[in-house]
Amino acid sequence: MLKKCDYCAKEITYFEQYCCDECHAKTNKFYEMSEKFEKLFSIVNMICVFGIPVGVFLFPFAKVPGTIIASISCFILGILLILLPFPTESMISKFKLKKAVKITRIIGICVIVLGLLICGFLFFFFMNE
Ligand SMILES: [Zn+2]
Repeated sequence: MLKKCDYCAKEITYFEQYCCDECHAKTNKFYEMSEKFEKLFSIVNMICVFGIPVGVFLFPFAKVPGTIIASISCFILGILLILLPFPTESMISKFKLKKAVKITRIIGICVIVLGLLICGFLFFFFMNE
């Protein structure tokens, strides 16, 4: 079976882990960064992932606070995923680091768009009241 570069997923021989020094260096840089910001990432991530359903749950009783909590959670989570794109272990093993980081950033953009949609809904409700 062919092995793939741990960073860019290019095919390599069984004895290698990376296709080139650059991929090796980029992988090291990623893990250095994830070690440095792991705690910050998981705390902010947890608060936002919790904030989105809380905001949605509040919505029927309190539209404005519910929307604000949900959309701010989306914006912060989206920015977090773009600035600190730390994929899950399973994503890294499935896609290799380079693609997993890219996917995480795309998810971040989608979460920001979701936040904008939530803001849009609030605006829509105000218009119809
Ligand atoms: Zn590579």
